[in-house]
Amino acid sequence: MITHPFTYQAPATIEEAVKRLGQNDDAKVIAGGHSLLPLMKLGLAQPETLVDLRRIGSLREIRTDADGTIVIGALVTHRDIAHDETVRAKLTALADAAGEIGDLQVRARGTIGGSLAHADPAADEPAPTLAYDATIRAIGPQGRRDIPARDYFKGAFETALAANEILAEVRFPAPAARTGGSYVKFAHPASGFAVTRIPSDRGRTRSHRFEGRRQGDRRSGREGSGWDHGALRPRRVRRIPQAPRHRLRETGDRTRHQARPRLTTRDILLRRRREGAGAVSLLRS
Ligand SMILES: Cc1cc2nc3c(=O)[nH]c(=O)nc-3n(C[C@H](O)[C@H](O)[C@H](O)COP(=O)(O)OP(=O)(O)OC[C@H]3O[C@@H](n4cnc5c(N)ncnc54)[C@H](O)[C@@H]3O)c2cc1C
Repeated sequence: MITHPFTYQAPATIEEAVKRLGQNDDAKVIAGGHSLLPLMKLGLAQPETLVDLRRIGSLREIRTDADGTIVIGALVTHRDIAHDETVRAKLTALADAAGEIGDLQVRARGTIGGSLAHADPAADEPAPTLAYDATIRAIGPQGRRDIPARDYFKGAFETALAANEILAEVRFPAPAARTGGSYVKFAHPASGFAVTRIPSDRGRTRSHRFEGRRQGDRRSGREGSGWDHGALRPRRVRRIPQAPRHRLRETGDRTRHQARPRLTTRDILLRRRREGAGAVSLLRS
């Protein structure tokens, strides 16, 4: 139950939304509500005004610009990203990551803008956003601002987005020919959130590794209260056969992965390659 009172506004344009956001220091944007509403129910967020973006149709589109940039609007849901043909073909790691998020209900409501604005270090979409060198386009009272993903994530739940700015779209540069991508997630068996994830892009054997460094005791397996978000820095891993050999479970939906035997990262990457879904076999011509 949400116990504190708040006003609710649902503007039809992004300019109007920016204006409403600027009118109250305690106003907050709401998109899918799948991170914000739980926080409000717990009393951890108490905005005086909620500015709902869902009437702004222009934020819902996925398009390819003339220069090949793939532009994903902030309100595009995880499910739509996972199913979009262009994203699946050209930003495969992102499509894979979106398809791994939560369950069907979460994917149907949660948005890429919400995921990147919330910046949970255990979230799935930030890692491929970094791996693909995307740019985050923010719109605020001073107009628009493009922030490279590597400068956007500042820490756990911290971004370069100002309080009066709205994340409007995520812009992915045209992928080079003959490159492919994939995403492997190792989820915490209780929460389903990522413990470690590996988005790979650009070519046959290279991938980027993103590994959360937990602040809690690693060996105990205890969840830290936060993650060192410096964590989300890409590091090259050399070759798929030399990928890290953490003994963690492969994920997917929870019941499915719980039934699976323990696999190493290498096992999974090699199996995905055999199945035709891995980085190596997803080369574009
Ligand atoms: C049961 C459950 C399981 C989940 N599992 C996973 C998982 O496995 N992996 C994963 O990555 N995520 C998971 N999530 C989180 C989910 O992906 C959320 O949808 C996502 O983190 C936030 O998106 P949203 O659209 O719901 O944002 P909201 O909850 O509406 O907003 C989140 C925050 O971002 C801000 N915000 C939203 N949109 C914008 C914008 N356009 N501009 C500026 N600020 C904005 C809001 O003000 C708020 O602070 C799970 C959530 C639930 C409830």
